[in-house]
Amino acid sequence: MASSWGSFLQDEQQLEELARQAVDRALAEGVLLRTTQEPSSSDVVSYAPFTLFPSLVPSALLEQAYAVQMDFNLLVDAVSQNAAFLEQTLSSTIKRDTFTARLFDIYKQVLKEGIAQTVFLGLNRSDYMFQRNADGSPALKQIEINTVSASFGGLASRTPAVHRHVLNVLGKTKEAARILSNNPSKGLALGIAKAWELYGSAKALVLLIAQEKERNVFDQRAIENELLARNIRVIRRRFEDVSEKGSLDQDRKLFLDGQEIAVVYFRDGYMPSQYNQQNWEARLLLERSCSVKCPDIATQLAGTKKVQQELSRVGVLEVLLPGQPEAVARLRATFAGLYSLDLGEEGDQAIAEALAAPNRFVLKPQREGGGNNLYGEEMVQTLERLKDSEERASYILMEKIEPEPFGNCLLRPGCPVRVVQCISELGIFGVYVRQGKTLVMNKHVGHLLRTKATEHADGGVVAGVAVLDNPYPV
Ligand code: ADP
Ligand code: MG
Repeated sequence: MASSWGSFLQDEQQLEELARQAVDRALAEGVLLRTTQEPSSSDVVSYAPFTLFPSLVPSALLEQAYAVQMDFNLLVDAVSQNAAFLEQTLSSTIKRDTFTARLFDIYKQVLKEGIAQTVFLGLNRSDYMFQRNADGSPALKQIEINTVSASFGGLASRTPAVHRHVLNVLGKTKEAARILSNNPSKGLALGIAKAWELYGSAKALVLLIAQEKERNVFDQRAIENELLARNIRVIRRRFEDVSEKGSLDQDRKLFLDGQEIAVVYFRDGYMPSQYNQQNWEARLLLERSCSVKCPDIATQLAGTKKVQQELSRVGVLEVLLPGQPEAVARLRATFAGLYSLDLGEEGDQAIAEALAAPNRFVLKPQREGGGNNLYGEEMVQTLERLKDSEERASYILMEKIEPEPFGNCLLRPGCPVRVVQCISELGIFGVYVRQGKTLVMNKHVGHLLRTKATEHADGGVVAGVAVLDNPYPV
């Protein structure tokens, strides 16, 4: 995709002045992060990195991503309810991946005791890149779906005003008006509010499981604020607080500091480093309770990369979503090549192909949060090392998506303004609520565009690689 802002990217002085205005507007709109120096305090904050210009995205692909979101919600919900599928899919992975094994352990314990919660809430974000086809046309390909702690719904609602500002300053008022409004945090909060209502106790609270050091706190506050505006109270606590002060009554109702908890919303607990023994015990306590967990442990497991890979196998979607051939076709159209590395002929062949053409693949462990995938020479070395070991089953192999790069400026605190070659990743936020067997809510609630320089293989905004952006539909 060529950039339609090409003429503006030439004039360095104008870019710098424009960047100053954009940054001031971003701060005024609340596009904020805490600083790396002070991640636990809001005394000093800075702007979350963002692009100077919105990036061009084909309208058809944006529509396609929105149209398939309800299907992805259904699919995740179906996987989370299918114990046999989860067990079979993850069996080789959990032999070698201790983090997934630990989550799976909790899942088994909860299943054995009987699941106490009757209301289920999914807040997810399905991420895509735009693969450049042989004929030059772009195609929507899923990178992954995040079923736990999917972030940036809050800040994404504040960036449209910044990009409109930039275009207005340039006299591009018609173009400014084409930037889509977006408010994922409101939609995510409506999902939480629905789950809270169905839980059915007017005095009960929403518990947000937060990290002590959280740079992205303003993103979370956006959801808290939406809930408070609906008279639903939210408390922020750490796993440690749960293990010290949390308890279940005989009906497995969860209490913290003497207050009943209707919904537990995890913004922590998706990486191994976020758990010590005490935190694992707290997670188990939460899972055993009848509070609505977002996500429950099964839904977190449904978001693993191993599950994503198994879903792409011929015939699997048809079994999970029986009688829904149109949904199956929409889902499958977004799948890139995904390959199991389980011991055996199929895995051997995948490894041979990756070693023969390393630039066409990405090696992924069962991790979230950015910076864990392996590319190029590093991937080759890891595959060589793991080739004959059971450990290889804790990874999956994925076709590498190659979008067409374009020019934009990535604005970061303390960094000079310069034009770099970039690629984007589009996320769509999905919300669903199920009560028993009945789905009472299933929708898409907004988008997130993140853009990074092509020199980086991996992603992540807080990881310092990608920056916030807006799609400019073309
Ligand atoms: P995480 O759970 O760590 O976010 P992802 O699967 O989203 O893991 O990968 C992290 C980043 O790596 C993505 O944001 C994207 O920039 C890049 N990436 C992941 N998979 C691919 C792929 N198949 N092709 C190209 N880039 C990829
Ligand atoms: Mg990701």
